[in-house]
Amino acid sequence: MAEQLRFDGQVVVVTGAGGGLGKAYCLFFGSRGASVVVNDLGASLKGEANSTKAADVVVNEIKAAGGKAVANYDSVENGDKIIETAIKEFGRIDILINNAGILRDISFKNMKDEDWDLIFKVHVKGSYKTARAAWPYFRKQKFGRVINTASAAGLFGNFGQANYSAAKLAMVGFTETLAKEGIKYNIISNVIAPIAASRMTETVMPPDLLALMKPEWVVPLVAVLVHKNNTSETGSIFEVGGGHVAKLRWERSSGLLLKADESYTPGAIIKKWDQVMDFSNPQYPSGPNDFLALLEESLKLGPNDP
Ligand code: NAD
Repeated sequence: MAEQLRFDGQVVVVTGAGGGLGKAYCLFFGSRGASVVVNDLGASLKGEANSTKAADVVVNEIKAAGGKAVANYDSVENGDKIIETAIKEFGRIDILINNAGILRDISFKNMKDEDWDLIFKVHVKGSYKTARAAWPYFRKQKFGRVINTASAAGLFGNFGQANYSAAKLAMVGFTETLAKEGIKYNIISNVIAPIAASRMTETVMPPDLLALMKPEWVVPLVAVLVHKNNTSETGSIFEVGGGHVAKLRWERSSGLLLKADESYTPGAIIKKWDQVMDFSNPQYPSGPNDFLALLEESLKLGPNDP
């Protein structure tokens, strides 16, 4: 039988943890030996209203089960204050789960600046603020684990979610860069696109499907990724939910390489468009430098076909 993953002596911060996925993460880590900072400002789905109740309920549940937890009611826009709570109450920060989120769904035609700005403040600025405040502690102790939360809407686009999808794909680039900067210090960062029954999905999915998508079933993957035993899976994107876990990666067609001189015209591209679209021999790029290598190849080519 596989050994149970434990998090004894570690401090976990979970943002937006008053319900849904965040609550499921907190209850899990609280039951596996970690001290948990349960952050939630008790927002409505659209980011209005404030209540300390949501976080308090989760803290009480962890404590009643014999675990250690403390509430924090700050908005993730002030993420440094959330990390401050971890340091003040527990003296350290080991694992950060950026989970807080809201929706402002509206067709692009009707989208207003405030719909755009609020989504970016909570998802993008919020994740930046917590990670930025945790970073010096992670570097100093040569240990840190970060989970950022994207969405299938961000990976693929979704009607009525231009703001949300842009913010959620930002989580991918953010995570990939944190992974590259952090690996030297044993800071591991991954991004998940979860799917789970919560107030975010309960009105858009049928009940029989929702029954298959408990938030608890996103937790095991997150536990594996943030555990100290994971020292190499970093900068990765996972889709997870309803018992299914899959990794996503970028795929590039082997592409059309032409000499970059005056013969490099729109017509030259159109003529060989099939090669641009040919995925029969794909590449799986993982950094900006492999494209630069292609450019060097282009310099060596002879003139393009007329
Ligand atoms: P949820 O609404 O149950 O939980 C989000 C929590 O974030 C709420 O408790 C809310 O009060 C809190 N929150 C909102 N703004 C905050 C702020 N400024 N500061 C602190 N807390 C704040 O939704 P959920 O489904 O559990 O979503 C969790 C995360 O997963 C979100 O980032 C969401 O975008 C993402 N996600 C969920 C699904 C899904 O299927 N449920 C799919 C894709 C992505």
